[in-house]
Amino acid sequence: MGVGGGFWELIKPLRHSSEDLSTLQDKRLAIDLSHWIVQQEAVLKDRARKPHLRLLFFRVVTLKFSLQVGALPVFVVDGDAPLLKLPARIERFSRFSGIPAAQLNGGDNHRNRAFLENVEECVELLGLLNVPVLRATSEAEALCAELERNGVVDACVTPDSDAFLHGARCVIQTLQADIKKPLVESYLASDIRLALQLEREHLIALALLVGCDYNLRGIPGVGYSNAMRLVQHFSKDEILDNLRKWGRREYPSPEVIGKLSDSANGFDSKEGDDAALHLGRRKDSHCSMCGHPGNKKLHTKLGCEDCGSLNTAGCSQKAKNFKCGCGSCAQDRRRKKHEKDVTWWSNLRAKISAIEDFPNEEIIEIFLNTGATSYLREGQSLDLRWEAPQMEPLELFLGSHLHWDVSYIRKKALPLLSHYCLKSIAEGPSMALLNGRYTPTSILKLKTNVGKPLYVVKWNAVDSFGGPGGETNEDSITTDEQISLIKRACPALVSKFEDQQVNCFLLSYTIFSFFLSFFFVFLCCFRSSRDRLDGKRKNPIQIKGVSCPSSK
Ligand SMILES: [Zn+2]
Ligand SMILES: [Zn+2]
Ligand SMILES: [Zn+2]
Repeated sequence: MGVGGGFWELIKPLRHSSEDLSTLQDKRLAIDLSHWIVQQEAVLKDRARKPHLRLLFFRVVTLKFSLQVGALPVFVVDGDAPLLKLPARIERFSRFSGIPAAQLNGGDNHRNRAFLENVEECVELLGLLNVPVLRATSEAEALCAELERNGVVDACVTPDSDAFLHGARCVIQTLQADIKKPLVESYLASDIRLALQLEREHLIALALLVGCDYNLRGIPGVGYSNAMRLVQHFSKDEILDNLRKWGRREYPSPEVIGKLSDSANGFDSKEGDDAALHLGRRKDSHCSMCGHPGNKKLHTKLGCEDCGSLNTAGCSQKAKNFKCGCGSCAQDRRRKKHEKDVTWWSNLRAKISAIEDFPNEEIIEIFLNTGATSYLREGQSLDLRWEAPQMEPLELFLGSHLHWDVSYIRKKALPLLSHYCLKSIAEGPSMALLNGRYTPTSILKLKTNVGKPLYVVKWNAVDSFGGPGGETNEDSITTDEQISLIKRACPALVSKFEDQQVNCFLLSYTIFSFFLSFFFVFLCCFRSSRDRLDGKRKNPIQIKGVSCPSSK
């Protein structure tokens, strides 16, 4: 899945993560179809009939047709894998399908037949949904990157980090096109350049050293940290030539090796400048008690200048992790480090020398595409269009592959069409019918979905048209629609709805006023009767012959 040795982990701090799919609105996305299928099958394995079709249908509906997202997906299909990549493709398929790699047909340059059938079924479904599909001459991620570099799309959707090596600038590694659990995780080549000083050529060098899909093992024993330490030292114009030189057994001088480790470890180069000049000198003797230059016997007798005890004799016990700052110790540290660097480089050199034909020029050529050959298979147009799904064949297709009944398909699929139907009503002189049968008859209510106000529109059937297979349709359906589109397509429905809203408001206002007046009347009656009662208590009525007991 791209550069080996945990490349995605390396760049994880540079990830842009969002749970808002609306960030993809109107963005053209080149989606690597094989990876998309493999990921989705892993999610739904054994739980649904033809999970690749089921999930593709729902996710395309979410991505493309939902008003909350409205992205423009372009699916990219792998061509034949270069022979170099065959083992990686088999391993990838084996990992997700659970079929042991040995059982997979590795004898020719084709993947498992069932998987290819799944891909072709997906292509057929996408065709019925009228979502563009492009076929690559070889690797889908290479074509995705090419489309993005040429401005045909805005981002590549693939978990294959090779896309960066093919020159992609924006890669969406994870795209969960699911309204309930949305997730977009993307990475930018510019972030990788800024934060890690890694350009496309550096990434190719890393792939050659630690492995990639074309060369699964890389150079055995060269880990990520060694490879990073090597490639980051050279500019993008130098790095691949340096790999070629090492392949020809032309190795850098010890000074260059010293600088290699300086740049990688943040070593202070001022300290390292004269390292080579003093390699032969040994460290001066030091006191075992305080750790300063001199010896314990002398310090006990005469004191230590560095401890400040010359007048009192003796010296203090050195602290844990004590590091002597004298020139001799600093030099000793530089010498040891240089020896370590030389050993590091000779080990690395031995590993590189053990590989024949390093670096593999074929891999460099595949990634850099120096011949500028397009990865787009001939005869395909880049005039991409996203049009209304073809309902009748779509119903037949979903019915036969997923065993969905027509009413269920229409419930799920008609909202995809309503947008296109309303657009043609808004633009055309004649009245368009949704699926040849429904017409918008009223606006039921205003609702808010993910912060966006929408109209809920009711569509009624205009006749007793029976769908494919003669099954009975619903008499009415409802869809959520953009307010602006409804205002253009059905202004009469909008004014009727607004009148209803006004009437509804007036009615509520009248009822409210009535209850308010009633409440005031009640309050007045209550207060006047209470005042009367109070008045009676203060001025009790004198009845002849009866006297009230005095309060005194
Ligand atoms: Zn001492
Ligand atoms: Zn001392
Ligand atoms: Zn010292």
